[in-house]
Amino acid sequence: MSDIEIHIFPCRQDNYGILVHDPASGETTAIDTPDDQRISEEAKAKGWTLTQIWNTHWHPDHTGGNLALKEEWNCVIIGPVGEQEKIPGLDRAVGENALVNLGTHEARVIDLPGHTAGHIAFHMPDDMVAFVGDTLFALGCGRLFEGSPDQMWDSLSKLKALPEDTIIYCAHEYTQANAKFAVTIEPENQALKAYVKTVTELRSANKPTVPTILSRELEANPFLRADEPALQAAMGHPGNDVETFAEIRRRKDNF
Ligand code: ZN
Ligand code: FE
Repeated sequence: MSDIEIHIFPCRQDNYGILVHDPASGETTAIDTPDDQRISEEAKAKGWTLTQIWNTHWHPDHTGGNLALKEEWNCVIIGPVGEQEKIPGLDRAVGENALVNLGTHEARVIDLPGHTAGHIAFHMPDDMVAFVGDTLFALGCGRLFEGSPDQMWDSLSKLKALPEDTIIYCAHEYTQANAKFAVTIEPENQALKAYVKTVTELRSANKPTVPTILSRELEANPFLRADEPALQAAMGHPGNDVETFAEIRRRKDNF
């Protein structure tokens, strides 16, 4: 089994387009479709044929290119069962633990309600990557448009439980803004300070901060750290993961 190749490129204002290619089978999937023209051009430049689309949630910056790409490439569209009416051109609806294949490479679907009600991630355990859409960001997490703090904490806890060396592909470049907020929550977190320095360097060189790695998020991302006793105390909710998470999310919404 050959390694998959992953190509990431900026789209729209702050989205990322992501193409995943399996050289052995010749299959290529787009993770979400922020910009059909960009995605097509990038696939062609790579010499790849788009055979699938994997949607994480229904928001237009994630599904807006579905129909045009399907028209051009006749690709199969796979997306969340909980949002199937809202996913243009959907061929296959998937939920928790469904298996999706790219050649012989396997992705397992994880239900992650919170940002939207049916949001899913695609985790490829053998390739040690996860495509998490707008649920987890580098140093941040998605806004709660359709879910409760309780649901989102539960979803983030599923991601926290993945192997620490999992490479995390998020859908937006929000890291610098997230970093400015994160240091207000944990000003003494040394891992966070080091991370912020790296982020500043990358962004001033106009380089992406995505993908990130789970181990680094576990140490520095305040939204994944709502179960840390010191952080719970600082947020005024000792012993309460969900209330601590809700308080951090509320502060970020007002930041
Ligand atoms: Zn979204
Ligand atoms: Fe988005």
